[in-house]
Amino acid sequence: MTDLAFQKCISPRCGATYGIDEVRVECSVCGNLLDVVYDWDRAKPPASLKWFEQKWTRRHEPLCFSGVWRFYELLPFAPPSQVVTIGEGQTLLQSAPSVAAYVGLNNSGLYLQYEGMNPSGSFKDNGMSAAFTHARTIGANRAACASTGNTSASLAAYCSVTKLMRAVIFVGSGKISYGKLSQALDYGALTVQIAGDFDDAMARVKEASRELGIYLVNSVNPFRLEGQKTIMYRVLEALRWEVPDWIVVPGGNLGNSSAFGKAFIELKEIGLIDRIPRLAVINAAGANTLHELYERRGLRWNKGLPAEETSTGYFGELDAGGKRASTIASAIEINRPVNLTKCLRALEACDGVVREVTDQEIMDAKAQVGAGGLGCEPASAASVAGARKLRAEGIIGVDERVVCILTGHQLKDPTATVAYHTTDQDKFNEVLGSRGVKRAAYANRAVAVPNDLDEIIKAIHLYG
Ligand SMILES: *Cc1c(COP(=O)(O)O)cnc(C)c1O
Ligand SMILES: [Zn+2]
Repeated sequence: MTDLAFQKCISPRCGATYGIDEVRVECSVCGNLLDVVYDWDRAKPPASLKWFEQKWTRRHEPLCFSGVWRFYELLPFAPPSQVVTIGEGQTLLQSAPSVAAYVGLNNSGLYLQYEGMNPSGSFKDNGMSAAFTHARTIGANRAACASTGNTSASLAAYCSVTKLMRAVIFVGSGKISYGKLSQALDYGALTVQIAGDFDDAMARVKEASRELGIYLVNSVNPFRLEGQKTIMYRVLEALRWEVPDWIVVPGGNLGNSSAFGKAFIELKEIGLIDRIPRLAVINAAGANTLHELYERRGLRWNKGLPAEETSTGYFGELDAGGKRASTIASAIEINRPVNLTKCLRALEACDGVVREVTDQEIMDAKAQVGAGGLGCEPASAASVAGARKLRAEGIIGVDERVVCILTGHQLKDPTATVAYHTTDQDKFNEVLGSRGVKRAAYANRAVAVPNDLDEIIKAIHLYG
């Protein structure tokens, strides 16, 4: 551990502090979430973001190669000798003109931050490298998570590459994509399938880790968010340290949005940026807790004292109605986002907005991303669908610079993609029709031809 950081309850009414070597998922005084807080006077971060460019010439050093630890000076909670990296964060900010047209922006106004390029194929590796580093510093030998898929794939990858810990993974039944489940199994993680959904798996993993003393790496873990801050540093880096107008991100457990807010709050506080971008968090309509609470019921950060009865009341309604989250975007199919309060803080700091998008909008946006970018999994496309909605409402201006976060790789959930492009109506109905998706407006259908060269050549002339 370094002595430059400590943990602190996010509630200003409480503000309890804990050592950096303590393992906690909540404040033991009031139950709120914890932050990792730095003593910047002593940590002495660089005087300008440009300073980090010198690390580009030292790519042979693992800590400079990593897109997370290249920014070590902005998350110095562990000594460099303890830092764990498997090469995360080699990601790309791609300018996507055709997706910009779809969203309704100027040609060069839309950028896709493609986090699918991480070793396990999602942005989760950014956070995992930090949580895993913390787990190592406290001497953990087992780490656990509940997951809609990507967190487990990431944890399993860190365990199998480093052999520092054994992974224990809790998944719900049915709602995990094969791409993700196959990673956990392939990497050798102990995989426990609970008869329940993600929210059930989350509740059980908390209990089981407490009982067995297993290190928990879900996004309630404050160290995860430290790693995820670096996604924003890389966005700034790719824009040559210019702050964009908007960051648009899908919202599930709200770890990413919370981390982005923290990143910008800190950069502003240290004096490394002079302006904070606006933040848009996009829910799926079938898992829209944040949208409901923030946009409809007026829940706000309120200087760290959000009206608790607003959220508890809503969760009570969900339970009473037996309402379960349901969306094709399995990575954000979550009704009880664990980082809700931190996300409210991020929305406050970033003059944020929240929108919900339907599975139809998600799948159409995903097809546009695929046709004009590197592709993504359904949850990721919520960002593009949300940006389009905000553009249509005039909240995002036509000449603004917008960065949508593509959180996961295109191949994570091939079932949804193939169902969208298929000519097989039964397959479409089973996967997408059942979720209210009516048509595949941007489908790229396979052309069926006889096994005959002339016919094949004819088809290529006709469709090519
Ligand atoms: C985890 C995940 C999300 C949701 O992120 P939160 O930080 O939980 O809001 C979105 N997309 C993908 C691909 C994910 O794996
Ligand atoms: Zn507290």
